[in-house]
Amino acid sequence: MDKLMELDNRKKELSNNRQGISDNKLEISKDLISIIVPCYNEEEALPAFYRAASDAVKEIEGADCEFIFIDDGSRDHTADILQRLSAMDGRCRYLSFSRNFGKEAAMYAGLQNASGDYCVFMDADLQHPPELLKEMYRVVKTEGYDCCAGLREDRTGENHMRTVLSRTFYHIIGRICRLDMGDGKGDFRMISRAMADSILELKEYNRYMKGIFSFVGYDTKWIPFHNVERSAGASKWNIRSLFRYAIDGIFSFSSAPASLSGATGVLLLLISALVGICSLVSGRGLTGIPLLICLLFLLNGIQMFFISILGQYMSRDYMESKKRPVYIIKKRGGF
Ligand code: UDP
Ligand code: MG
Repeated sequence: MDKLMELDNRKKELSNNRQGISDNKLEISKDLISIIVPCYNEEEALPAFYRAASDAVKEIEGADCEFIFIDDGSRDHTADILQRLSAMDGRCRYLSFSRNFGKEAAMYAGLQNASGDYCVFMDADLQHPPELLKEMYRVVKTEGYDCCAGLREDRTGENHMRTVLSRTFYHIIGRICRLDMGDGKGDFRMISRAMADSILELKEYNRYMKGIFSFVGYDTKWIPFHNVERSAGASKWNIRSLFRYAIDGIFSFSSAPASLSGATGVLLLLISALVGICSLVSGRGLTGIPLLICLLFLLNGIQMFFISILGQYMSRDYMESKKRPVYIIKKRGGF
């Protein structure tokens, strides 16, 4: 709450800035950068984020910015903080979801409600350094790129188990998806209006954003940055949610697991044919109850495993066919 009072003290300064911005708009038409920030239980991190991001955008010449915060069904005071930010700074808008729909849904909602010439996705915990915004804007504005993205060079401060699992996941997905989704290539990126509109054209329910960025294409320039520990609060991911996220990524962007089941089926047929031929040629035969039970379990196990792969695709298709909304907005402010 102390932090909130600190924010209030900046009210006057910000309203002066705002006045300055609207005066400028009368003179020259500046670019607008929409800063999209998904927030889930970020009451501790938000004040510092707002301060740092506001300072960083002051350095950007030739562009104004708007903040689009998405409260992804937080259970703490995130919504109150966003309401106050929006009341004191006309650049701050927020959407509050009716429950936790996940970061991907929050990013989608932010993009749908952003009016900027450029849009940038940032985490609320300052793990995406706001100082990079100026360089990102320069790249997309002057170098002809539609996307300038942060490339996290290391995983300093991250749980060792998570580092190993994430690296394995990105190695696998890189091999089977034929899309550019390497380790360190996250969501922190500034994109042009053209790329934003292309992303919005994809209406799928299972929105794996890293895959979507890669799918829509466009030229991307990567700028490296070092990982830092989150400024406050705790990561919202646990092993279970990361595993679900990984499965979503693989099944949303690759049919390789289904091909794998086909290839294994062919292999099994070949083996059984070989066994049959061998037993006929030798004249002894492969009989016996233990062998039968063993084979039964093995084949059933394999069958069930691959049925589950098919099930993954069917369940995704099922969700898509329902045409459910990706998110539900309970409240909005500043729009
Ligand atoms: N986040 C969200 N919904 C969720 C989980 C996370 O909007 O269900 C937001 C979170 O508030 C943060 C960003 O996504 O701004 C990244 O989350 P986090 O820092 O927990 O992820 P990590 O950095 O550990 O990958
Ligand atoms: Mg984080």
